Parts: sequence; C-alpha cells; structure tokens
Amino acid sequence: MKICMIGVGYVGLVTGTCFADKGNIVCCIDTDQEKIKALNSGIIPIYEPGLKDMILDNKQNGRLEFSSDLRNSIADSLLCFITVGTPPNKDGSADLSYVLNAAREIGKCMDNYLIVVTKSTVPVGTTDAVRDMINSELKARGKEKLTFDVASNPEFLKEGTAVADFMCPDRIVIGCDKGPIAVCMRELYKPFAHSENKIITMDIKSAEITKYAANAMLATRISFMNEMAQLCDKLGGDIENIRRGIGTDMRIGSQFLCAGVGYGGSCFPKDVNELIHTGQKNGFEMAIASAVHKVNEGQKKYFVDMIKKKLSDNLQGKKIAVWGLAFKAQTDDMREAPSLMIIEELLKMGGQIAVYDPEAMEQAKQALKKENHKIEYANDMMRAVAHADVLVLITDWQEFREVDLDQLKKVMRQPVIFDGRNQFDPLEMVKHGFRYYCIGRNCYG
Ligand code: NAD
Repeated sequence: MKICMIGVGYVGLVTGTCFADKGNIVCCIDTDQEKIKALNSGIIPIYEPGLKDMILDNKQNGRLEFSSDLRNSIADSLLCFITVGTPPNKDGSADLSYVLNAAREIGKCMDNYLIVVTKSTVPVGTTDAVRDMINSELKARGKEKLTFDVASNPEFLKEGTAVADFMCPDRIVIGCDKGPIAVCMRELYKPFAHSENKIITMDIKSAEITKYAANAMLATRISFMNEMAQLCDKLGGDIENIRRGIGTDMRIGSQFLCAGVGYGGSCFPKDVNELIHTGQKNGFEMAIASAVHKVNEGQKKYFVDMIKKKLSDNLQGKKIAVWGLAFKAQTDDMREAPSLMIIEELLKMGGQIAVYDPEAMEQAKQALKKENHKIEYANDMMRAVAHADVLVLITDWQEFREVDLDQLKKVMRQPVIFDGRNQFDPLEMVKHGFRYYCIGRNCYG
C-alpha cells in the first residue's frame, strides 16, 4: 500500500519505517525542514534500538522517503496517518492544534480518495473534528464531492522498545465506522498481527478512549506501588517483597509494579492530565486519574525530601553525581523526565552536580539550558562519580546495574547512594560499605 505519515517524531518515524519494512511504500512528511534534511542525509534524530539500520535499509530499497511536500505525497497514497504531537496545554488539556493543522493541510491539498487515520493520542471526538476540518477545507475549495474516510488507530509502542513493540504488538486497535475501512486496515496490519484476534476493531470513540484508558491504567499501577512503597518506608516492609507477592497473582500480573521516582515521559503525565480535564469539561470528576497524578507529583518530592532528610538542606561544597537523565532507560527522551525536577532541587540545595546518561546528554543540555553553567556533563558514568559525596540514580540503565561496586566505592569521596529505581540489593550495598537509600526498602538501612 502507499502510505503518507504526517509527523516524523517517535511514533511517525517508527510506524512509517515498520510499514515500509513490510513492503509498503511510505512517505514521511514533517514541517521541520531540518529534521527532513537530516533524515535524508542518514542522520536519525532520535535514539531507538534497531531503528537506524531499518531506516537506512528501507530508504536504500526505495520504500521509505522523507519530504516536506504533503501534496505530492498524498496524491498517490491510499492511507494518510496523522502522527503529530498532542502536547499538554497549561490547563492539562491536549493541544490539538497540530492534529487539526495536519487535517487542514490534508483538506487543502487532497485530490483523490484517502483514508485519514489519527494515530496521535487524541481526546474522544477528535477524529470527528478531523473529518469536519477536512470537509470544510474541501468545501472552501469547491471540492465537497471528493470522498474520504477517517479512522482511529491509537499507538501503544513504548519508547526504548518501539521497533520491537510495533513489529510484534500485544494488540492493534482500529476504530472505524465502515466495514471496508476495517478490511483495509486489517490487511495493512496482517504482517504485524501474527494472529487474527490481535486486531481489535471497534467504533472510533471507543478506540480514542482505549488509548487513554491504557495509559491511565499503567500510570495507576505505578502510583499505587509508589504509595505502597511510602507505606513500607514508614512501617518497615520491603516493597520488592510486596511486588513479588502480588505480581504472581495472575489477575494482577507482574508488569508495571516497580516503585521508583514516579512516571515521566511524553505520554503518561499528559494523558492522565487530559483525562482529568475531559472529566472536568464534562462535569464529572475523574477521581482515580486525579489521585494517580497527585501521588506521582508527590513521589518526586518524596525522593528529594529523603535526600534532604538523610543529608542536609545544604549541599554547599558537596559533589552530587546523577546517573540517568532520560525519563526511562533505552531512550534519549527528556520530556517530563523526573530528573529535571530532582536536579533543580539538588541545585537549590547548593550541590555541585555532575551528570551522566548513556543516550540523553544532548537532550538534557537542551532541557536544562538555564542551569547548564552549574552542571558538569561527564563523558562516562565513572567520571561523573569521581570524588562525589553522593550518587543519585534516577534512570534504570543496565550499565548502572552492572557497575563494579568495589570500584564505585573507591572513586567516590563518600559512599552514599540514593537509588530512585531500586536497582541494587540493599543488603549487598551495606556489605560493600555503602550508605544506601532507596524507595520502599529502607527497612534494611
Ligand atoms: P513528536 O513530538 O516526537 O513528533 C511530532 C512531529 O510532528 C514533530 O517532528 C513535528 O515537527 C511534526 N509536526 C507537527 N505538526 C506537523 C504538521 N502539520 N505536518 C507535519 N509534521 C508536523 O511526537 P511523538 O512522541 O511521536 O508523539 C506523537 C503522538 O503519538 C502524540 O499524540 C503522542 O501522545 C502519541 N504517542 C506517543 C508515544 C511515544 O512513546 N512517544 C507512544 C504512543 C503514542
């Protein structure tokens, strides 16, 4: 099939590349000319395992191209996916201007039948608004007889494993209101589905809500475990025991039960907030989503307060090493990363900060622009901890877990660790001579 992707971010780039890899002809469009130029010269703007080789391979085979020319791209496409951002507005609602602008552009330049698919995460009713926008542009051009269809196909890939997730998804959700559209979408996804029942078709509104429900459910599990972890710290339990004790219950399952510094990233915070906002707009309280958000905000503060309590409010003259900046491992994405708030607080306490992340250093420099003159960006993890008085671990990269503890103790000025991801065994750390603080396991210290 010939496919046009509008928006070459994490979702658009991965989706477009994977569609091309299964034999489709894909043109990825973005308004960011620099990005398109970079992609055309083989520079990949994001870090995602396995993506670069796949892009280069499909580009070379002529199945994948990058352009800013939407008119040309949709002229011979059957499907057009909208994969632009839906960032949060100040009031917590999703900013739909990029989605609606994309729809406007489609209406302005389409001349053939097209199936327009919203893949961006959008509040219920947005796909209808996309249809209205295209219709009104067609009318303005006197082309109201031109036919098109819309569908919703929310994306569930995870940054860090995006290619693998897309190639082998748990399920594919397709929202549409016409049988033939469902048939066409099923055909497109057949090579990814591996079994027919992985493709779930439904009405458009249900598909839109499904995406928010999934993210809110996952965020709920994280906040729930973080609340339990705080209880453990107060009363003496070990959250890891609780995790194993409940995760083995088939009704509960073991995923997304790790306590830590709270969730971040470009999706959970904004999608939970959008749900809360949708409730407010429609006169009812999304009580669970509100509590999930509140616990998450509190969790970052809980970690910072733990550092303050165990050390002092004044870190003047102390070197604090920070391991991990991205919102989670295997990505360079700094959007809503808990590290941002934690580093700001550490700086307020007067600490000399040295940071290291395997992939997110450049993005972190952008995100922490105002504070950069106070931050040392170390070339590797051991350089960051050299002569440090404290190590604060924020992202669960594998290489941090594999550190030689004896060497770590040797290079640090003082062996003090605050582990925001429970990456180490507390008893092992004590045995190695560390003062070790973590989340919900402080009964050992
Ligand atoms: P992103 O910010 O990384 O990329 C969006 C891209 O769209 C940018 O390159 C931007 O320049 C481009 N763009 C904006 N307006 C455009 C227009 N009119 N025409 C062409 N290009 C345009 O966004 P993302 O992280 O890929 O997320 C996209 C959507 O997918 C969001 O709604 C997000 O919630 C959802 N989503 C994201 C993830 C994820 O892990 N990042 C996972 C599932 C769903």
